[in-house]
Amino acid sequence: MQGLRPQELAEIIAIDRKKCKGCDACKAFCPTDAVTGKYGAVHRVDGERCLFCGQCLVNCPFGAPQDTVDIVDKVIARLKDGRTTVVAAIAPAVRVAVGEEFGLEPGALVTGQLLGALQTAGFKILDTNFAADLCIMEEGSELITKIRHYALGEAAGHAPGPLPQFTSCCPAWVRYAELYCPQLLPHMSSAKSPLMMAGALAKTYGATEVWRTNPENVFVVGVMPCTAKKFEASRPEFASAAAYWHKRGSAGSYPDVDVVLTTRDLARLLKKLNINLTAAAEFSDADNPLARYSGAGTIFGNTGGVMEAALRTAHFVITGQELAALELNPVRGLKGVKAAGVTLRDAKTGREITVKVAVVHGIKENLGPIVDEVVAGRSPYHFIEVMNCPGGCVNGGGQPINPMGTSWLDKYKAILPWS
Ligand code: SF4
Ligand code: SF4
Ligand code: SF4
Repeated sequence: MQGLRPQELAEIIAIDRKKCKGCDACKAFCPTDAVTGKYGAVHRVDGERCLFCGQCLVNCPFGAPQDTVDIVDKVIARLKDGRTTVVAAIAPAVRVAVGEEFGLEPGALVTGQLLGALQTAGFKILDTNFAADLCIMEEGSELITKIRHYALGEAAGHAPGPLPQFTSCCPAWVRYAELYCPQLLPHMSSAKSPLMMAGALAKTYGATEVWRTNPENVFVVGVMPCTAKKFEASRPEFASAAAYWHKRGSAGSYPDVDVVLTTRDLARLLKKLNINLTAAAEFSDADNPLARYSGAGTIFGNTGGVMEAALRTAHFVITGQELAALELNPVRGLKGVKAAGVTLRDAKTGREITVKVAVVHGIKENLGPIVDEVVAGRSPYHFIEVMNCPGGCVNGGGQPINPMGTSWLDKYKAILPWS
C-alpha cells in the first residue's frame, strides 16, 4: 500500500459489501476520491488513496463503511490483568460527544462524568489538553523563530523551516500532504500532535513521577474523536519514550501510544463494563499534574483552535503582552477558510510585523487554493491551520453516528458560537 510501512495500520476503513447500496453519498465527503464503484454497485475503499479520516463512515446513510480496528476487548483485558497501568489520554472533542451515546443531547459537556466513568473502569487519566498546551508551546516557539528569522531579520541558531508554517496535529492532513503535496512537508510544524506528546509523557514523567511504575507497564490508550489517530499511533517514529529509556540502558521497545479508542469505541467499552456514563460520579484528578490544562488546550477540538492558541503564545512571547482579541473573518470566495492578521511589536527591537494566519477545515472543499498559493510562492500567510474534517475534530470520523448518516456537521452548528 502506497506510503505505508510494515508497522503501520492499513485499511482502517472498509465498506461492508452486504450493507452498501451504491448510492454514492460517501463520495461527496471523501477528501481524496478514495471511494470507488459505479452508482448502484457495491463500493470499496482504495487504501492507496485513503486518509483513514472516517468521513465516509459517519456520513453513509446505510452504515456500510466500518472501522475495522476493534481493540475494545484488548483494552478491557489490560484493565483487568492487574499488572498494567492503563492510561487514558482524552481529547477535548470526546467530552462533548460521548454523552450522546448514552442518550444525552448533542453537545452535552460531560467532562466530570467521563473522568469518573474512566476511573471506575480502571484507567489513570492524562488529559490530552495538557499535551495540547505543550504542543502550543512547541509550535508557537517554532513560529516565533521563523518570524524572527524571516520577517524581523534576526539570525537563528539553525536554519528554520520555511514559512508559512502548517499545523501537523491532524494525521489525515499529514497523510494527505505526504501523498498529494509532498513539496509542502518542509512547511509542516515539527511539533508532533498532542496525543503523541501525551504518550511519550505518560511513559516517561508520568510513569516515574505520577504513577510510580515501570514505563514498560504503562499502556497508553488515546481516546479520540478520530479514526485517523489509529493510524497515527501505529507510525514507527512515535516511540520517543522507548528511545529516551534506551539512552538510560533499557532494552524495551514500545510505542508511545499503544492503541486508540474512538468516541464510539469508548462508549462500547463502558457499556461492556456496565458503566453508565450518565450515572457516573463526577471526578476531578486535581492532584495529577497531567490532568490540568489551560483554556488554550481546550479549544484544540474546534477549527481555528490550534492556530489561535499558538498565535496567542507567539504574541505574548514577542510583545510581552496578552493578545486582547482575535477576529477570524471569512475570506471572500473561499468558503471554509478563515483568515486573520495580528500586528506584533517586538518588545526588544520595537520593530513591527503583521502576522497573517489562515484556518482551513474540510480538505475536500477548501484546501486547494491555499496549497496552490504556497506551491507558487505567493502565499500571504505565515501560519496555516489545516484540519481534515469539516468543522474540525468535533465532526471527526470517530464521533457518534446519526441513524441516517448525517455526521456531526449539523449538530455542532447548534452548539458552537462561531458557526
Ligand atoms: S454512502 Fe454508504 S451505501 Fe452509499 S455508496 Fe457509500 S458506502 Fe455504499
Ligand atoms: S476514510 Fe476518509 S479518505 Fe478514506 S475513503 Fe473514507 S472518506 Fe475517503
Ligand atoms: S480533523 Fe480531527 S478528527 Fe478529523 S482527521 Fe483530523 S485530527 Fe482526526
